[in-house]
Amino acid sequence: MDNEHKKIKIGWFTFSCCEDNTIVMTEIMNDHWQEWKKLFDFRHANVLKSKNILDELDIAFVEGAIASEKHAEKLREIREKSKKLVAVGACAVVGMPAAQRNYFNEQQKQEIEFLVARFAALPKVLKVSDVVKVDAEVGGCPMDPDKFLTAVAGLVEELKKV
Ligand code: SF4
Repeated sequence: MDNEHKKIKIGWFTFSCCEDNTIVMTEIMNDHWQEWKKLFDFRHANVLKSKNILDELDIAFVEGAIASEKHAEKLREIREKSKKLVAVGACAVVGMPAAQRNYFNEQQKQEIEFLVARFAALPKVLKVSDVVKVDAEVGGCPMDPDKFLTAVAGLVEELKKV
């Protein structure tokens, strides 16, 4: 088996989110580039490349809340194709603050009704674990780089045993 095939296949996906965690991940990458390029094959990461592949992944990182059925379908597809799935950042882990419309009063709900319809949004915004099984979570926003690296190291060890 060549080196490229032994690498851990990574995907990075963003749903309803302002991408603070993506920025942190790229900053971490600046420091860890040399070691990561030997270890990881970034197969799907819109922030890093324009040509992305979603076939089979070892680890999928998911950022942002799930706001529409289209999001939920995509997330289920990612789950099916990934050995491990990690929710990163506050909105993926607990839904908030992206899910603040869930707590709107009746008048506020009426005011945004046309937007919910226009974007075919779900009645309630969901966290990632409301839709699929999650293997690890790195909460906070932006995520804590040390906690992210600890989660990655733990998953890499687990995958070596598979
Ligand atoms: S607060 Fe939520 S929407 Fe904003 S960057 Fe963080 S995870 Fe994304």
